[in-house]
Amino acid sequence: MNILMNDFRKEPKELKRDIQQAITRVLESGWYVLGPEVEKFEADWAIDCGVSHAIGVGNGLDALEISLRVSGVIAGDEVITTSMTAFATILAIMRIGAVPVLADIDPATGLLSLDSVRRCIGKKTKAIILVHLYGQIRQMRGWQSLAEEQGILLIEDCAQSHLASLNGEKAGSFGMAGAYSFYPTKNLGAMGDAGAVVTNSKSFAMEAKQFRNYGQSVRYEHPKIGINSRLDEMQAAILSVRRKWLVEFTERRRQIARYYFDKINSSKIQLLAPPEQAEAHVYHLFVILCKERDKFLAYLAHKGIQSLIHYPIPVHHQIPCSALKYDPRGMVQTERHARECLSIPCHPQMSDLEVEYVIDSINSYDAEISK
Ligand SMILES: *Cc1c(COP(=O)(O)O)cnc(C)c1O
Repeated sequence: MNILMNDFRKEPKELKRDIQQAITRVLESGWYVLGPEVEKFEADWAIDCGVSHAIGVGNGLDALEISLRVSGVIAGDEVITTSMTAFATILAIMRIGAVPVLADIDPATGLLSLDSVRRCIGKKTKAIILVHLYGQIRQMRGWQSLAEEQGILLIEDCAQSHLASLNGEKAGSFGMAGAYSFYPTKNLGAMGDAGAVVTNSKSFAMEAKQFRNYGQSVRYEHPKIGINSRLDEMQAAILSVRRKWLVEFTERRRQIARYYFDKINSSKIQLLAPPEQAEAHVYHLFVILCKERDKFLAYLAHKGIQSLIHYPIPVHHQIPCSALKYDPRGMVQTERHARECLSIPCHPQMSDLEVEYVIDSINSYDAEISK
């Protein structure tokens, strides 16, 4: 067996055929950056996210930076977020000269802890970036009330949570803005870099559109500064094809996760808490905890099962972050999670046989290593 974390080669023929047609369509249109394909994808993605506006940008990091900037976060402001995230979350804050403050996580989910975030709030706190880690959204009412009560902005890092919804409300619709990445391995992925900002505010959407394109309002007029973070027609056309498969692919991820929750029973493995509602988790990653992780990783590799660690080094241990402020009570849960977490394959192209093989391999770990 050779079970990968992602296996694009096994995707349906119809999907590949439609992507080829989309690429040909763009080639023959003669228009390659910010055009009708981008506008169509933006309109569809806004509907998918249950918001009024989506703005296509170059990647997830830019989507986060633009979300922060347009929300009014400026140099010197503090932005609270998690230490258990992709480094891009932190880079977006640092790139505008704002200051990340790191809160600890809830050990049952790996998501930011509300109590820890409360301890991190100070006079300079301007925003919280909620990372919907691994694809889960939780206790959004709690986050919204905290933000409202403290007069702080809520920004969502939705790079792992495409289509996740709680009580029918989608990831990206809870705060001022949501930042999506369409990096190829995300649940909705392009064939290169791509991203989007989603929001319910018309003025926010207008500013974000200007900012991604040199701060330009109409041709050659630049009322504000900006960057070049435009989405191209080819990626937009590919995303339009792939989004038609997203509901089905997401359902398959959930099905695999249900098998894992039902069947994994090794005493050496701890599962994270299942979601509050089935729709609130899209299983970008299926993460488990193991106290003897190195040994377990070697065992999985020997069985032909690929695995990765999200994330082995928490942000506060990264070299450029050594001076950052974090929860005054320490980062105990983040440290433990970083030591014990690992991600096992959970992608839509896995067959039932492969899912069973992963489960059997995990459940026979104890018996096999004591041989
Ligand atoms: C992938 C990811 C990003 C960054 O997206 P890019 O498109 O790679 O820039 C940001 N945050 C999280 C949580 C991610 O997983």
